Amino acid sequence: MTKRIVFRGTVQGVGFRPFVWRVADSFGLKGFVRNIGNGVEAVFCGEPSTIQNAIEMIRISPPPQAIIESVEIADFAGDYKDLKILETPEGTPSSVLVPPDIGICDDCRRELLDPKDPRHLHPFISCTNCGPRLSIIRRLPYDRHTIAQGDFDLCDRCRNEYMDPLDRRYHAQTIACPDCGPTVFMGELKGQEAILEARRSLLAGEIVAIKGIGGFHLACIATNEASVNALRMLKNRGNEPMAVMCFDIAQARGQAEIGPCEEQSLSSWRKPVVLCKKSNNYSLAPSVAPGTDKIGIFLPYTPLHVLLLDGLPPVVLTSANLHEEPIIADGKENLMVTKVLDNDREIVVPIDDSVARCFKGRQQLFRRARGFVPETLLVPKGPSILALGGQMKNTFTFAYDGKVMVSHHIGEMGNAATFARFTESLCLFRELFGFKEEYCAHDAHPSYTTTVHRKELSRSDRFIPVFHHHAHIASVMGEYGLDGEVIGVAADGTGFGTDSTIWGFEFLVASKSEFQRIGHLRTFQLPGGEVAIKDCRRILFSLARQAGSTIDLGIGPQERELWGVMIDRGINAPITSSLGRLFDGFAVLAGLGQKATYEAELAVALESAYDPGTKPFDFPLRDFGDHFEIDWAVALKQGIEDPASISGRFHKGISEAIVKGCLLARQKTGLKRVCLSGGCFLNLVLLELVFDALSSEGFEVYTNISLPPGDGCVSFGQAVVALSRVGGVRCV
Ligand SMILES: [Zn+2]
Ligand SMILES: [Zn+2]
Ligand SMILES: [Zn+2]
Repeated sequence: MTKRIVFRGTVQGVGFRPFVWRVADSFGLKGFVRNIGNGVEAVFCGEPSTIQNAIEMIRISPPPQAIIESVEIADFAGDYKDLKILETPEGTPSSVLVPPDIGICDDCRRELLDPKDPRHLHPFISCTNCGPRLSIIRRLPYDRHTIAQGDFDLCDRCRNEYMDPLDRRYHAQTIACPDCGPTVFMGELKGQEAILEARRSLLAGEIVAIKGIGGFHLACIATNEASVNALRMLKNRGNEPMAVMCFDIAQARGQAEIGPCEEQSLSSWRKPVVLCKKSNNYSLAPSVAPGTDKIGIFLPYTPLHVLLLDGLPPVVLTSANLHEEPIIADGKENLMVTKVLDNDREIVVPIDDSVARCFKGRQQLFRRARGFVPETLLVPKGPSILALGGQMKNTFTFAYDGKVMVSHHIGEMGNAATFARFTESLCLFRELFGFKEEYCAHDAHPSYTTTVHRKELSRSDRFIPVFHHHAHIASVMGEYGLDGEVIGVAADGTGFGTDSTIWGFEFLVASKSEFQRIGHLRTFQLPGGEVAIKDCRRILFSLARQAGSTIDLGIGPQERELWGVMIDRGINAPITSSLGRLFDGFAVLAGLGQKATYEAELAVALESAYDPGTKPFDFPLRDFGDHFEIDWAVALKQGIEDPASISGRFHKGISEAIVKGCLLARQKTGLKRVCLSGGCFLNLVLLELVFDALSSEGFEVYTNISLPPGDGCVSFGQAVVALSRVGGVRCV
């Protein structure tokens, strides 16, 4: 008998067709396998039980990166004498998922370093189980002629392997070898000579720009303080920590505490940067990650990285773009250095490294990009929605057919070049996914770039504004598929509120479609607005003034008067309930700095200074009947009187306040599920304190895991809200 089987999900570009062929061949089946627009189609001819067994085998042990979402089986007419892999029919409409970029596999890494292998030292070695995917795709279906690698004609050896069903590179679209693959070059030097020159330059203390999978990095030896410092000056990124690449897990262990979860995350094919605690033997240059007890580590994810790092100390590898600018994908752009290790394979989708950490033994994403995007999450079925996200750390989201695709981290929308990249990526992804929205969700902030330009960005004129912190909480509900109402705690930096003030520490009673603000941090003013986010003395000044306390900030009478006037007259002194800003103010009080050279620098310093053996500050909860407020003034006075161990007392006090708020919310509403989201929960100390305390009070606690708790989750949350509002309403 003959059956036609259609596999849907992430089944193209992950070695799925050859795998299906091999399984079918091992069962003696005849027929064919091919990519079709919306999946992989197999036609099997043989005994019914044999066909069934083969399908089961495919279902239970697919290739590592494949995700089978559904299998359809139907009778089919036809008799076959052999088993073939067929080419993809041209012009097939496509809704299949593109796989994320896949880090180098163990087999390729071994061949790369094996002098007897034909691909020994070839920096573009890959196979059906590894190599770039999303970053090189021009259109679907994923095939040799639709990807940037297709610009290189195959040599006879590669062609033979590509055609041989028993070879690991059978239909490996990124197949390459020294005779036919892309070329690395540095100035006039090519191939191995260029790589050796890059290594020499690094060891000599120079900074080298290196083209990776998703864009250019700037690299230098991480133990060389002069080089790291020079790199930091070049990037003009203040004290923001930089990630380092280690050759292998053993080298990583030398610098960081790596538990089973960290190891799994580091070694996974997704190869994210993993934030680990610095170990006692930490020996990297002080400028790599100043002011924090964490270090971001990742392992080589391309063959080029393996060749570069073999035998070297850990190497700083940080994106070559300036702060807030989009990632650089073209070697002709200004890379700020003379040593550039470039290559001639085009990057079609520039994409940043992903950043993760471990929370409760699970990988939690900080930044979701390479290795994760464009994998989809599941949501209830409904109309198609484009969600434009917010302003900072922005992503966009497509919701369609019960799935959501959250884009890679694109960044700061206030930067013209980054916003242009956002628009380009949106266009490209529209084509890749054949996506057209029926509704467009956007932030309720009237002057966010994505709100202002929503009519140009959207192909629908049905707009759904979503409030920032509702989106945060809805993103958690969406991740876990929670329905009904929950208590939402948004602990965040900045978000536009219903009263037009800057929200940032909010207690909501929320469903996916609606929310009510039931409590918040007592508000205060930010003299100078955005300036106060960088000059955090202004925040502490404002807090102290409002609390009627005096504090010596070492500022002159002129500044004091100016800030005072701003606050008293409400001139450029926006009102906020932001926990992020409260962190900044208390970090200044703790003497951990006065100005932030990157976002949340002082909050990170406050987290790193945490001392568990201290008593919490008092943050009394004042219930006004229709809402409650958490008062920071008592804590401030306690801190001014006794400035010892401010970090520990602050973290514990805030954690207690969150629990008090949730207990009151439960008392009033009977709800016992709490969703935590917002940038402050990137603070692991705070998240763990709150999570544990709420759990022991009998709450069911949820927080973002697959998406970042920071603003990377906002577009997804908007899509969840919009779907819930218009669910079932289809436009004709
Ligand atoms: Zn491989
Ligand atoms: Zn070749
Ligand atoms: Zn936010």
